[in-house]
Amino acid sequence: MTRILVLSDIHGNLDALETVLGDAGKVDAVWCLGDVVGYGPQPRECLHRVANLPGLICVQGNHDAAVTGKLDLYAFNREAILSIQWTRAQLSDSDVKWLAGLPEKVEMEEITLTHGSPRNPIWEYLLDLNTVQINFAHFSTPVCLVGHTHIPILYTCLNRNGNGKDESYVDWMIPSPNHPIRLIPRSIVNPGSVGQPRDRDVRAAYAIYTPENQQWELRRVEYDIRAVQQKILAAGLPSRHASRLEEGW
Ligand code: ZN
Repeated sequence: MTRILVLSDIHGNLDALETVLGDAGKVDAVWCLGDVVGYGPQPRECLHRVANLPGLICVQGNHDAAVTGKLDLYAFNREAILSIQWTRAQLSDSDVKWLAGLPEKVEMEEITLTHGSPRNPIWEYLLDLNTVQINFAHFSTPVCLVGHTHIPILYTCLNRNGNGKDESYVDWMIPSPNHPIRLIPRSIVNPGSVGQPRDRDVRAAYAIYTPENQQWELRRVEYDIRAVQQKILAAGLPSRHASRLEEGW
């Protein structure tokens, strides 16, 4: 069986990333759904670590794009802007070039990878069922993987046959860690965030995907939050970037 490590929203948190890579064990490929940098204190180290992972496919997140100058900063809040400017100063020109070269969307035979949504890869948050339903028309593969919200979730588009007319609707569930589920067509699934979880569970989140049987296993792993907080404060980054890690938002 092929084991694919699915990562998203690492956000310069090297401690969380290393813990996840250790916890995942041997994998055949790595799919990264964007936002390697931003918020966290070690963007450079995270970028180099991710760029050298075996079998990497990585799409571009909004923070990655902002650091390259592709996006106007007005759309970010003040603290995010500070962290984007700080992050840019940590990176070399070739680091920025690597981020700039990331695709917004990758469509393979069975699966689509993107950061925000298939309709608007860089910006759109999939947080309500209406928006999710509309997005099922914007990719053609059985499954689409997204990040961006930092919340692990599975959306499935199903058909309801009632009174002779077909009606599609979206069902959703929060997968439990370490309980593999099968991704049935058509699904949109989010592995959560490695470096800044926002579902009030402070543990780093990631997933292992097995394409042969479409099995998706969400995982959560504890890492040294204190160490990251100290690095954030020592770097002079906004203290909220440190405090939110221990609250999971
Ligand atoms: Zn993010």
